[in-house]
Amino acid sequence: MSSDKPNKPNAAEIISRPAHTVSRDNISDAALKVLYRLKKGGYQGYLVGGSVRDLLLKKSPKDFDVATDATPDEVHKLFRNSRVIGRRFRLVHVRFGREIIEVATFRSSADPDNDDHDHEVSEGTGRVLRDNVYGTLEDDVWRRDFTANALYYNIADFSIRDCVDGVADIKQRTLRMLGDPETRYREDPVRMLRAARFAAKLEFTIHPDTAEPLPRLAELLRDVPPARLFDEFCKIFQSGHALEGFRHLRQFRLFRHLYPETAQWLDEGVEKNHPERLEFIEQALRNTDERVAEGRPVTPMFLVGVFLWGPMTHDARRLQEAEGYTELQAGNIAADSLVQRTNDIVFMPKRFSYPMREMLQLQPKFNRTKGKRAMSMLGHPRFRAAYDLMLLRQILGEVDATTADWWTEIQTKPEAEQARAFGAAKAAKEDAENAARRRPRRRRRKT
Ligand code: ATP
Ligand code: MG
Repeated sequence: MSSDKPNKPNAAEIISRPAHTVSRDNISDAALKVLYRLKKGGYQGYLVGGSVRDLLLKKSPKDFDVATDATPDEVHKLFRNSRVIGRRFRLVHVRFGREIIEVATFRSSADPDNDDHDHEVSEGTGRVLRDNVYGTLEDDVWRRDFTANALYYNIADFSIRDCVDGVADIKQRTLRMLGDPETRYREDPVRMLRAARFAAKLEFTIHPDTAEPLPRLAELLRDVPPARLFDEFCKIFQSGHALEGFRHLRQFRLFRHLYPETAQWLDEGVEKNHPERLEFIEQALRNTDERVAEGRPVTPMFLVGVFLWGPMTHDARRLQEAEGYTELQAGNIAADSLVQRTNDIVFMPKRFSYPMREMLQLQPKFNRTKGKRAMSMLGHPRFRAAYDLMLLRQILGEVDATTADWWTEIQTKPEAEQARAFGAAKAAKEDAENAARRRPRRRRRKT
C-alpha cells in the first residue's frame, strides 16, 4: 500500500462495546453459534461486512458473514453441518436449517474473482485448487469495497475493529471506496454497480472521490460476465430501493451499459418531448418497491420486460411498416432479437426470459374483450404480470382507461358472469354439454 492512500489503515481503532450499538440480541442465533464455536476452538471470530454496517444503522441484516483466522479445513472440522466451497478461493458454508453462515478466512489477495461467490464449484470436482493467500485481519480489510463494509465485530469482547474510519462514514451516511477508487473499479467494475446499489439502499451520499470516476469508467462494465451483471441487477432491483437504484445508475451513466436500447429510448424521449417514457419506467420501479415493502414477491422478469417494452415496440413498428409483417409477427421477431442482444450484456436465465416473452406477447390481446380466446387470458399463468404491464402502458397512451378498467373489473366477477361479459356464455354452455355427452374412450390395449 502506498502511503498516499487517502484512507490507509493504521493501527485498528477498537471501539469497545459500550461505545457502539451492535447488540447480540440482533445477531442471528446461527451466526452467534458459529462465532462462539470458533472462539472456543481457539480461533478469532468476527462478524463482518453488511451485517455490522446494517446493525450500526439499526437495519436488520440480510445475512451474516463471518471472518476468521482459521483455515477452511479447520472451520470445516468444527462444524458437521458445513461445506467447503469455492473454486479459487475456498470458503465454508455452515448451514442451520434455511440459514447459511458464510465463513471466510482472512486473506490478503485483492483478486476480485475471488469474490465471485455465485459461480462456485465444489471441492469434490477434482479441480486443482490454487494456493490461497491467507492473511491477517488488517490484510483482509483491503479486499473490502467501501469503508462501511469493512468493519469487524469481535466475538471475543464484542468490540468493533475499524481500520478505515468506517464508523464515521456510516454516521455521516457517506459511501467511500477504500483505497484509490479508480484502481478499485478497474480491479472489479461490478463495484460501480455496488456503489449505486448501496447509495440507494442505505440512502448514503457517494463521496465525491468515489463518485467521480463512475461515468468515466462505466464502459468497463462491458468486461463483466453477463451472468454476474444479472445477479447484480437483481440485487439492485429487489432491494426495495429499485427506483433510487435506477436513478443512481442513470446519473452515473451506468444504466446505458446494462440496457443500452432502453437508455436510447429514454434519451429519445427527452429529445422528442416524451416524458411519459421515463414515467412509465419509474412507475414500474415504484410499484416494485411497494411490493417489496409489503412483502409481496417480485420477479426480475417483470422489470426487464418493462425495460424492453419501449425498444421492442419501436423495432416492431419498423418491421411492420418496412417489411409488411403483421403486428403479432413483428412483435415476436423484434422481441426475439432484442432479448438476444440484451442477453449478450445482462444474461437473464430462461426461467425468467420465457415468462417475460409470454408477458410481452399477451399485450396485444388485451385489445379484445370478446370471445372464448379473450376469456382464456384470465387463466394464463402470465395473466397477472401481463395485466400489470398493460396498466402501466396507459402512461404511454397505448391503452385507454376503459379497457384497463374492464380488465380490472372482470377479475372480480364470478365465472358465469365473466363468461357473459366476454360474450362467451353460449360457447361455455356448449362446451359443458359436449363434455357431458362425450363417452369415456376405451383405452387401446397393446397386443
Ligand atoms: P448486502 O446487505 O446486500 O448483503 P453486503 O455488504 O453484505 O450487502 P455482500 O455482497 O453480501 O454485500 O458482500 C459481503 C461483503 O464482502 C461486503 O460487505 C464487502 O466487504 C465484501 N465484498 C463483496 N463483494 C465485493 C466486491 N466486489 N469487492 C470488494 N468487496 C466485496
Ligand atoms: Mg451480505
